[in-house]
Amino acid sequence: MIDDHLAQSIYQQIQDAEHILVVTHERPDGDAIGSLLGFGLSLRDANKRVEMVCPDGVPVNMRSLEGSELIRKSPKGNFDFVIVLDCSDLGRTADVLDNFKKIDLNIDHHKTNDNFARVNIVRMQAVSTSEIVFELIKKTDLSFTKDVSNALTMGLITDTLGFRTPNVTSRALQVGAELMEFGADFHDIYYQSLVNRSFQSARIWGKGLSKLEMEDRIVWTNLTIADRKAVNYPGKDDADLINVLSSIDGAVISIVFVEQPAGFVKISWRAQPGYDTSKLAVKFGGGGHAAASGAEVYGNIQEVIKFVLHETRVLLGNIEKEGILTS
Ligand code: 5GP
Ligand code: MN
Repeated sequence: MIDDHLAQSIYQQIQDAEHILVVTHERPDGDAIGSLLGFGLSLRDANKRVEMVCPDGVPVNMRSLEGSELIRKSPKGNFDFVIVLDCSDLGRTADVLDNFKKIDLNIDHHKTNDNFARVNIVRMQAVSTSEIVFELIKKTDLSFTKDVSNALTMGLITDTLGFRTPNVTSRALQVGAELMEFGADFHDIYYQSLVNRSFQSARIWGKGLSKLEMEDRIVWTNLTIADRKAVNYPGKDDADLINVLSSIDGAVISIVFVEQPAGFVKISWRAQPGYDTSKLAVKFGGGGHAAASGAEVYGNIQEVIKFVLHETRVLLGNIEKEGILTS
């Protein structure tokens, strides 16, 4: 929950600002774009000058959100109030904020957040950053239009995989219901973000699934640059393949390794309740939540797989040995 006093203080600072910059993380997911667009549009509706920035732009499947065409890849001009959304640390914003000495507001729900701003609203109980933005808008004189509601709904739905992750609260469902009352096209957003797939996405899943392995209750696979070329997949991500792996019976941790340009490998972990993969992600320079975390490391993909599997086994071994169950 956001304290009324804190919400009013932030609102006052926003009122006093001339030019506001709102930034989210690279390789954006639905919550990154949803919270950015929801907050950004709401500030624009309050007649503020606002620039919305995501270092990688807007993924194709989110471009149907009204207002998403306003999101740029880098900021232009001077800003006197800087907001960062859904980022556990400033490294997540690539080089976008390199020339900014201070960040005014950090809104996030990752347990690995390092409180990098002057004002930090970090709520680990929130299922998505969009949920926190919803609450802040609600507690101030900012308002919800259909476009704001659609954007926040996208964040809420994608981070909970359609309200089915173990962290879903009655509050999250209430926020979904309220956004629907504010005009969100619930079905359309749900279908576009979680159900509908491009043909190339289905084919890249095929590539990954054909290499699937499972051992010691860990299930994993990898996607190489050659795999993407072979099926004409345009992104550098896993097309959400990790969510398919995490539904496999008998596995408590699932991992997808995605080869990146210039010798990097993107790692995504997912874990069943009781296992905390954020610790592993931090070890590899990344971060995230207990149940969903990620990192990007430099190295040959086969070597990275070997090392990461080893560390994941160690984590599982430790958990079992010590009987530690964390969430
Ligand atoms: P995904 O595997 O879907 O990319 O990410 C899962 C979760 O881990 C998300 O909450 C995401 O923000 C976080 N995450 C993914 N990659 C990184 C990374 O390189 N650094 C940090 N700090 N967090 C990451
Ligand atoms: Mn999020």
